[in-house]
Amino acid sequence: MPRQSARISLILALVFPAIVCATLALSYYGYRYAKTTSERSKVSLMEGNRQLAQTLAGGIQQRIDTSDFDLFKQVEWDDETGGPRVGLELPEAMESVVVLDRNLRIRSVFPTPEARHRGRELDRWQNYVRGLDWNSLQPWTPAQPGNFRHLHQLFDGKSVLIAYASKQSEAGEAYFVAAKMNLALISRKWLPEEVRALGGDRKIAILDEVARPIFGQPVQERDQRFLHEASFGKTLYAWRIQLLPKNVEELQAQAETERLLGVLLIPVSTLIIAIGLGVVWLTVIAERRTSRLKSDFIANVSHELKTPLSLIRMFGELLATGKHKGEQTPREYAEIITREAERLSHLIDNVLDFARIERGKASYDFAEGRLDDVVERALDVCRYRVEKEKMRLRTAIEPNLPPIRMDENAMTLVLLNLIDNAVKYAAEGKEVDVALSRTPGGVTLSVRDHGPGISIDEQERIFERFYRARNARERNVRGSGIGLALAKHIVEAHGGRVTVSSVPGQGATFTVVVPAAPTAAAAIPLTVAGEGQGAQPSPPDAARDPGGVLRPVKP
Ligand code: ADP
Repeated sequence: MPRQSARISLILALVFPAIVCATLALSYYGYRYAKTTSERSKVSLMEGNRQLAQTLAGGIQQRIDTSDFDLFKQVEWDDETGGPRVGLELPEAMESVVVLDRNLRIRSVFPTPEARHRGRELDRWQNYVRGLDWNSLQPWTPAQPGNFRHLHQLFDGKSVLIAYASKQSEAGEAYFVAAKMNLALISRKWLPEEVRALGGDRKIAILDEVARPIFGQPVQERDQRFLHEASFGKTLYAWRIQLLPKNVEELQAQAETERLLGVLLIPVSTLIIAIGLGVVWLTVIAERRTSRLKSDFIANVSHELKTPLSLIRMFGELLATGKHKGEQTPREYAEIITREAERLSHLIDNVLDFARIERGKASYDFAEGRLDDVVERALDVCRYRVEKEKMRLRTAIEPNLPPIRMDENAMTLVLLNLIDNAVKYAAEGKEVDVALSRTPGGVTLSVRDHGPGISIDEQERIFERFYRARNARERNVRGSGIGLALAKHIVEAHGGRVTVSSVPGQGATFTVVVPAAPTAAAAIPLTVAGEGQGAQPSPPDAARDPGGVLRPVKP
């Protein structure tokens, strides 16, 4: 037993904390692994977005640059006339082109505006030209096709893209070219074409200077986490490209699960494991207690059996050998032998009944009867023992009590146990009061002693099987710890309740309340709660007196 208990203690002390640590470590690393994996896939997703944005911006820029190249190549300055040569073939993306002399005066507008629009067109161009950074330009030649710039900004609330370059005539005369790009064509034709060329696993939107959508739907706030934003580089630099994976809802849900896991996984799993371990811990402790109580019980019962047996043997031998003094002695010896044999029977009664209850096999013969008769008979049985302890039994039985439905033998056992306890634990109190009275709906039996009483913290527990209170253990009073558990089971099977009230030092009162029988329902067998079968006749029980005279109380 101590070895087993040491092993259990080792489990409690080492294995439990180890389980908690291992679980914490597992959930932490599991979570970390899942998080890293999803971070990695997010990074590669974002990298894919970045490359696509680059491809899209590059494709558009390429087309614009090609148009610019076509234009700048065509524009020429005629040194003889001192003005631009006419007859330009504008690329499709060019809306309007101006050629300016070295003093930045507009010398030609292509296509030539109608006379009535000319003034307005020139004003508009003057406005654009003022915003251009001419000084930063190097002369454009086909060999240096990159020497031109773009201006992309709002004019009168409308997005305008101007490509401009400086050139030199054959005679070395500087002149300038500026072209207004057709943004409607770019956004309605080129952008969709380029987007289509990218393939279809992304949602793409292009926003203008004030975040109005030029193409596609702008990204919603909740999807920002997976959004990649890029600019169009050096051409449409005031516009923004937004890229979003098509399965963003899925990713969003995945991210939410991840967040929840982060918040819940470790605390919740730790809590569940802690609760589980707590339950196991409590079970182990309860098991340990029960097994300790059981081994105490075995020791107590063996002791209980041994003492009367030794006495019976000793006095039997004395009788047999005739070694006795005086006239009275053989009778006294025989009385002792009878009393000890009765104690043995009562103990065995208790143990057998208790074993039946433990196996769920308890059964009662219910019949309508009078509790005062039962009390009278039980008191007759105990009287000798009570007097032997120099105690006085006082009874107060109310007349005309209502009948109750009961198993008389079982109820007698309850009473014998209560009186036996009063004699065993409260002999110094000298008196035991047994009272029977009518209470609303039933009958109340009380057994009161004037002994040491029971400490408050033990008053509930004395009804547990095998439990023996400190007074019994410290004073070494003989007993098995099952008497009150048995009494409780019997009383509850009768639909009643047994309670104790005690002020330590001032005795204890055990009270049994049982319901009165419904007058019409005489002698109907009842099922005992928890048995699940109809009431069965009691098995022939050697410890019970068929004539209704019960054994004396336990030792
Ligand atoms: P047992 O008497 O065999 O030990 P019981 O189940 O009858 O077992 O009683 C349980 C415990 O309750 C006893 O061990 C004793 O400590 C306490 N007890 C019962 N009756 C009394 C009483 N009248 N006065 C003081 N203690 C009592």
